Formats: sequence, structure tokens, C-alpha cells
Amino acid sequence: MDQPGVSFEDEYGLHIDGRFTPPSGGEYQPTRDPATGEPIASVAVGTVEDVDRAVSVAREAAAEWRDVPPDERGRLVHRVGELVDDNAEELAAIESADQGKPLSQARSDVAGARRYFEYYAGAADKLEGRSVPVGPDQVDFTVREPYGVSAQVTPWNFPGNLFARGVAPALVAGNAVVVKPAPQTALSTLRLAALCAEAGLPDGVVNVVTGFGDPTGEALVSHENVDTITFTGSVETGQHIMKRAAETITPVTLELGGKNPAIVFPDADLDAVADHITTGIFTNAGQVCSAVDRLLVHESIHDELLDRIVRIAEGYEIGPGWNDPDLGPLVSEEHLERVHEYIDVGREAGATLVTGGASLDRPGYFIEPTVFTDVTPEMRIAREEIFGPVLSVFRFTDEREAIALANGVEYGLAAGVFTSEITRAHRMSRDLEAGTVYVNAWFGETNQTPFGGYKRSGIGREKGLEALDSYLQTKNIAIGLEDEADSLPGA
Ligand code: NAP
Ligand code: MG
Repeated sequence: MDQPGVSFEDEYGLHIDGRFTPPSGGEYQPTRDPATGEPIASVAVGTVEDVDRAVSVAREAAAEWRDVPPDERGRLVHRVGELVDDNAEELAAIESADQGKPLSQARSDVAGARRYFEYYAGAADKLEGRSVPVGPDQVDFTVREPYGVSAQVTPWNFPGNLFARGVAPALVAGNAVVVKPAPQTALSTLRLAALCAEAGLPDGVVNVVTGFGDPTGEALVSHENVDTITFTGSVETGQHIMKRAAETITPVTLELGGKNPAIVFPDADLDAVADHITTGIFTNAGQVCSAVDRLLVHESIHDELLDRIVRIAEGYEIGPGWNDPDLGPLVSEEHLERVHEYIDVGREAGATLVTGGASLDRPGYFIEPTVFTDVTPEMRIAREEIFGPVLSVFRFTDEREAIALANGVEYGLAAGVFTSEITRAHRMSRDLEAGTVYVNAWFGETNQTPFGGYKRSGIGREKGLEALDSYLQTKNIAIGLEDEADSLPGA
């Protein structure tokens, strides 16, 4: 079934060596529109042999791609960004239909994807080494070289945007990539791979093998000829991939989600805070690794702020992504069930359900925006990532208690502080254990700002110039300067 603004093929093959190709096992599986539960197309299930072929093709392509002059690499990657922009409406419609997100959120993801290609294109000819002074008898310098083949495993929450986040820096650094997208939402990734080919990237530099974690993803991350791995998803899968990578001594970059706290002091502008918090937890139906999962409110303003948040949540228009509502469906039936389980767990633990908690009486995977208060730190809903539109509210009395609550989980991806006192904002930013701190705004990051986790939220940084470090290794070259008098007898 086609959604407004886009038409789909019946079947999508793998994208290897610059073209679509059927999977060697001949197997396809449906991808569904989360707003209806109906299949919209079938996507290839890549086999171990398909992964092997994609990795060999990438390996050959990488050997030539690394020698393409950096300005030319930059130009080609920039061209991908232009094509993303030329096809922005189609890409947004694909993402909205396949993933479920409201159209304007899908448009914003696509604009961000274009920016990754532009931003990293500009870095392609600036990846310089340095010279190291070691004394008069030696010249020493470093060069930054690509790893070779970058394997990238992506999740279903921002599929097209995260493809660009990983692929653009890998390419400008001179690597070839093999991407394994999540099976629920592979269509935008396949379209982007086709645009990479259309932009003139050499065949084999960007490959996509669709399929499941097991065996497709598993075959990719344990492949002997993969040189570096980028993974975004759950802690459990991240741990598993790290173990696989240990067997081949392959470096990993892991972005594993969060349980992100926002701390609100009485001197904050509560209307603005309510807007930031509702955007922070309900964007993409809460399926965001940097969502506000935990709202820590000073006890003196708890009721006032909660009222404002509940009013906004209860005014939300909920519906299919293509109608561009405030809130779309969750990605899958399985995920809807998981979020419901957490809501039950919260109720049973004694948290107060202030609003939401129910599915909508219609097809698709819809759930109301949900707010719990009286949440305490030992509850599971206070510690585990729900990845849905569920906000947990806590009370605190002073800064010290707020910091202890905020840092008292195993995650450390993002955190926020809302206050008008600058010294307090700095103290809190210093003491929060998180890779990103937002002050008086949520989702403050851009393509240019480094992003990644403390603690179990991950290893390494995506975005910004830091991301390039995951795709380059340093070679040191030491050259002895033989003394002419010693080396030329009689001279
Ligand atoms: P997941 O299991 O970690 O999946 C992420 C990706 O890894 C998918 O492409 C998945 O494919 C693949 N994968 C699974 N097992 C693999 C293996 N052994 N080797 C290689 N690749 C493998 O996450 P999920 O089940 O989709 O979501 C579960 C939870 O993860 C969510 O509720 C949320 O807490 C978290 N999550 C976090 C982020 C984030 O941005 N940090 C994004 C999405 C989800 P299959 O789906 O076929 O297994
Ligand atoms: Mg889908």
C-alpha cells in the first residue's frame, strides 16, 4: 500500500557494488507502516554469503577510494548531500511511512542527514597529521589513514539520519562501508545508498545488506575483513558486538541509549521548561536515545510544572505520520508491547500515573503520551530505558540530591539543567555524568557537536570533528637523517 507522497516497489534487494541485487537465499520479509500495521514493501534478508560478498567488494573499493585525492572525496560526499536535498520530500515520506514519525520530524531528520554530508565533505581535505620534534638526527611525522572497511549496524528510530551520521565521516576519511539497517525500517537507508551511487561514489564504497541481527548483523560484525565497527542500539546488543569484535581485535564505536535526566530549579521559566520537556520526551514518540526520560523537579514547583506538562500532553494530536500530528505511532507491535510492560511495571511499583498509559482504539501501534510521578530511584521505570513516550517525574530538595539522583543510573548519554542562575548551571554541568549537557534547552546538539555516552551509554563520539577519530588510525613515520660525513666514505 502506498502512502501519500511516495510509491514503493514490491521488493527491495540488497545494495552491493553500486547496484540493487537479490539476496542469495531468495528470502524477503515485509516492512510495515506502524500507523496501520500493514506491509508496505518487502525487503531482502541478506545471508552470510551476501555479507561476505559485500565485505569483499568494500575491501577492494576501499583500496582505491583511499587514494582518491581528498578534495575530490569531499566533492563527491558533498554531492550526496545535494541529492539528499533534491530528494528531501521523498526521503521524508519514506521515513514517515516506514518508521511512523510525523512528517515534519522526518523532514528535520532528512535536513540533518544532508548536513552530515555537507559538514564532513568540508573536512575531507583537512585531515592532517603533525610533525613531532625528536632532535636533529630524525624527522618524525604522523599521517592519519583510513581503517579500510567500516561495518555499521543501525537502529530503527532515526534510520536515514543515522546512516548519514556514520557513513559521511567514514567516507571522507577514506573508508568503504557496509551498513546493516534495522529490519523494521530499511527503506530510507536503501534509497540513500542509491543516491550515493547516483552522486558518483565509486561502486562498492557504500554497501547495504538488509536482514536481521542474526545471521546478517552477526556475520558482519564478526567478519575477519571488517576493520572497524559503528553500532547504535541497545546495551545488550552493544555488549554482544563488543565480544565479537574482541575476537578479531576490531575497534568499536557504540552509542547505546540513555536514561537522561532533566533537573529543574525554581528560578527557571516554567512555561519554557514545559515546552522543552514535552518536546524532549514526546518527539518521535520517545524513541530517541537522548530523550528526557527522567524529570527531576524541585519540590516547590513540582505541581505547577506537572500541570503545564500534562496540559500539553493531553492536547496532543495523535495520528499517522503522513498527517503530521504531534505524536505518531511506535515502530512495531513488539515495541508497543514492551512499552506497555513498562507502564504496568511502573503502576505495580507504586508510581502515580498522571496521564496517558493506554493504546488508542485504532489499527497501528499508537500509545498515549504518558506521565508518571512519585517515581523513586529503585523502580525499574527509573533505571531502564523505556524508549517510548513515558516521562518519569521525581522530586528533589537541593542540588546535591539532584546530582545524586541524576547520576544514580548506569547510563550517561545526555542530561539537562534548567535554571536562570549561571553559577548553578556551571556547577551542575561540571558534576553531571553525561556526554552531553543541555542548559535551558533540550536537544541542543547539532551535526557539528560531539555526541556520545559516559558509562554504559557507549564508547567513542559521533558527530562533530570527534567522529572522524573513529574512522582514522594514526601512523607515525620516523626518518633517520644519516650524517653525510659518516655515510659517504672519502667525501
Ligand atoms: P537492538 O537489538 O540493539 O538492535 C539494533 C540493531 O542491531 C538492529 O539493526 C538489530 O537487528 C541489530 N542486531 C541485533 N543483534 C545483533 C547481532 N547479534 N549482531 C549484529 N547486529 C545485531 O535494538 P532493538 O531491539 O531494535 O531495540 C531494543 C532497545 O534498544 C530499545 O528499546 C532501546 O532501549 C534501545 N535502542 C537504542 C537506540 C539508540 O539510539 N541508542 C536505538 C534503538 C533502540 P535486529 O533488529 O534484526 O535484531
Ligand atoms: Mg516499517
